[in-house]
Amino acid sequence: MKRAYNFSAGPSMLPQAVLEKAQKELLSYQDSGMSVMELSHRSGLFTEVITGAEQLLRDLMDIPDNYKVLFLQGGASQQFSMVPLNLFRNSGKADFVNTGSWSKKAIKEAQKFGDVRVIASSEDEKFTYIPQVDKGMIDPEADYVHITTNNTIEGTAFRQIPDTGDVPLVADMSSNILSEEMDISKFGLIYAGAQKNIGSAGLTVVIIREDLIGHAKENCPVMLNYQTHSDSGSLYNTPPTFAVYMAKLVFEWLEELGGLKAMEKINEEKAAILYDYIEQSDFYGSPVQKDSRSIMNIPFIIPGRDLDAAFVKQAQENGLETLKGHRSVGGMRASIYNAMPKEGVEALVGFMKDFEYSNK
Ligand SMILES: *Cc1c(COP(=O)(O)O)cnc(C)c1O
Repeated sequence: MKRAYNFSAGPSMLPQAVLEKAQKELLSYQDSGMSVMELSHRSGLFTEVITGAEQLLRDLMDIPDNYKVLFLQGGASQQFSMVPLNLFRNSGKADFVNTGSWSKKAIKEAQKFGDVRVIASSEDEKFTYIPQVDKGMIDPEADYVHITTNNTIEGTAFRQIPDTGDVPLVADMSSNILSEEMDISKFGLIYAGAQKNIGSAGLTVVIIREDLIGHAKENCPVMLNYQTHSDSGSLYNTPPTFAVYMAKLVFEWLEELGGLKAMEKINEEKAAILYDYIEQSDFYGSPVQKDSRSIMNIPFIIPGRDLDAAFVKQAQENGLETLKGHRSVGGMRASIYNAMPKEGVEALVGFMKDFEYSNK
């Protein structure tokens, strides 16, 4: 059986070793005669899965003890609502950095619940760069500051996390969590949908500083209150059990690989292969400013030619899947998350060379 190199922005590739392990354990997990999918979420076996996943994530990301790890549902999109519902607690004001389509959605949702100010934006240049964010721009009274650390659609990323002082920094890290080392203590809250760098869809990970829990209003729906999930160890209701299990397998895979330091090095190498090739080519181009480039999502264009559809089709015929750019940006986009092997990026560059040669 041949596996494709899948460049999808999400759901995306999973490590083959993880899929094989899940396959091996599918019918009978730990000799229980039951699949993880069939286990009670209150059973001893599943308790080991969820607490094991949490411990692995804590070790990998070096999460301080005063942070909770929550395994939720609803995707990153639900966090666009949960964050304001729980974090507007004093002034009812929040400062947002607008770096693309996902930031815009987060802003729009937060506006329903409080006073939202956009303190920096790159919309003037079609989100092709990350704007400067200084401490002086932040309202010291704001309940939180929100950024999107990696802009999945536009292919930009914060190469430096802004210092927000005493104002808690909230980050949508959906598309670059676990891709590099991060100092968690810089953040008040981190959230990420699982389907990019964590595992399968259906699971959302929230890492939240304890002092930010417990401030939601009386009328906050129980399922949207962080306190509910914090108090119950993410077992208030049935969690997405299989997705939590898949995440645990991915965390184990990452640990075996040498953790985030090793992963970051590999990711930098993979991105450099693609960027270096685009850079030296006069056929392809990058729409993103150099200092703002993402190492996870890499958009590229073929300027002045109407060749995008042909590129995507022929790439697919060569086992390179889902390279079409987002409809709002056009061109192509290669998402090269943790699970994309270096060989996949090399195969892509090989194909790009052939395509350039035959269309020049
Ligand atoms: C994919 C993505 C989302 C949306 O995630 P869902 O889990 O589908 O809600 C939000 N923000 C970013 C940065 C993303 O990459």
